[in-house]
Amino acid sequence: MEKIHSLTGMMDLISSKADKEDLSNKVFLTEKLLKSIFENFSISEIRTPALEDTNLFKRSVGDTSDIVNKELYSFLDKNKKSITLRPEGTASVIRSLIEKKIDGDTHKLWYLGPMWRYERPQKGRYRQFYQAGVEMLGYEEGISEFEMISIICEINRELRIENPVIKINHLGSNETKKNFCDALIKYLKPMKSDLGEKDIARLEKNPLRILDTKDPNTQKILEKAPKISNFLPESSIKMLNVIKDTFSKDCEINIDYSLVRGLDYYTGFVFEAVSSNLGAQDAYLGGGRYDGLCKQLGGKELPAIGMAMGIERLALLSNAVEETKSSISFIIISSTIAANAYKIAHDLRSLNKKISIDVQLSEGSLKSKLRRANKDNADYAVIIGEDELESGDVIVKSLSDQNSEQSNMKLNDLRDFISNLK
Ligand code: ATP
Ligand code: MG
Repeated sequence: MEKIHSLTGMMDLISSKADKEDLSNKVFLTEKLLKSIFENFSISEIRTPALEDTNLFKRSVGDTSDIVNKELYSFLDKNKKSITLRPEGTASVIRSLIEKKIDGDTHKLWYLGPMWRYERPQKGRYRQFYQAGVEMLGYEEGISEFEMISIICEINRELRIENPVIKINHLGSNETKKNFCDALIKYLKPMKSDLGEKDIARLEKNPLRILDTKDPNTQKILEKAPKISNFLPESSIKMLNVIKDTFSKDCEINIDYSLVRGLDYYTGFVFEAVSSNLGAQDAYLGGGRYDGLCKQLGGKELPAIGMAMGIERLALLSNAVEETKSSISFIIISSTIAANAYKIAHDLRSLNKKISIDVQLSEGSLKSKLRRANKDNADYAVIIGEDELESGDVIVKSLSDQNSEQSNMKLNDLRDFISNLK
């Protein structure tokens, strides 16, 4: 029969006991570490549905963004309503606060889950990928900017990220953005025909995005273009410098006046974390202030700042290793004693929650079961057969030390042994 394959750009993640360097393992470890960092910062979890009304993203992410223009997974449901698999998390968070009428309060929230974008798949770029995000809501520009960078430094440290650099910029108020865009358009219009094809379209629709161009001709022309730093109030430039100085001991921070973000809703402070080790897809985290979004979606005036990070890209960069804990492969030699032997494993588990006890479920020879235990990198094998059950002894064999002899242990001693394992 013809086999059914997963969809292009959509991966299965399956953890592997044998290969700790496997991307799936690294993804799961990354998620675990991120959650503990968010808890350290006293941030609460929010979980929103994966499917939303398509209008939510059109009105927030923006009609001129790549995401809404080309990348949305939108469908008509059975009721002919247009629904979309979320491409990002922020819009749903704001929708949720407005719906629950808590958009007037302050919140520190984190989320983690799959996102969908119809893109050309390549290393670090998938059609279903995982993002974690943090949103600080109800806080004016000020301390929350520092908290964002502090969280990034902690992520870099805990995940042992390779060659991290944080790029920061300030887009000013809507008025600054408009004045700067006017000047940019005025400078670029006479050279319109020399710009890249994508950038010509952006000139009309979203000129700020031209700063993010990958086109070499446009890049050359931009060298002499007006800079946003000439339009920013002194206080914004000062803030960038203070942030850079505050965290420079922990992480390389560069002020980059051409940094703009792919989503339309950002104003004020924006940032991105990159690593040269990722190659073409060098950004693993991005964010910024989005004070206007809540009102734009029909809610209250709610100042807010947030960031989102790509779990797979973080996993590719991470050198973090799982905390080691002892693992036991529990081998029952004969199925005729399954019930009594399993009862022993069941009772042992409750003695020590830190370790793992993997009861081998398949039938087979002792030799094949020991081979399995070795393949799974177990530290010990505990072996029980009919004779052992009769005599109240079990066999314990250390697998990490190939030279060690197996030993017989009384059940009571095994209990002590298990209780003391770390
Ligand atoms: P890029 O410029 O790489 O397309 P982006 O600006 O579209 O990134 P954001 O919308 O800011 O990305 O999303 C935040 C993070 O999510 C990115 O920094 C990246 O780590 C991750 N990310 C975005 N798109 C993908 C994807 N298709 N596959 C895997 N990770 C992704
Ligand atoms: Mg993108």
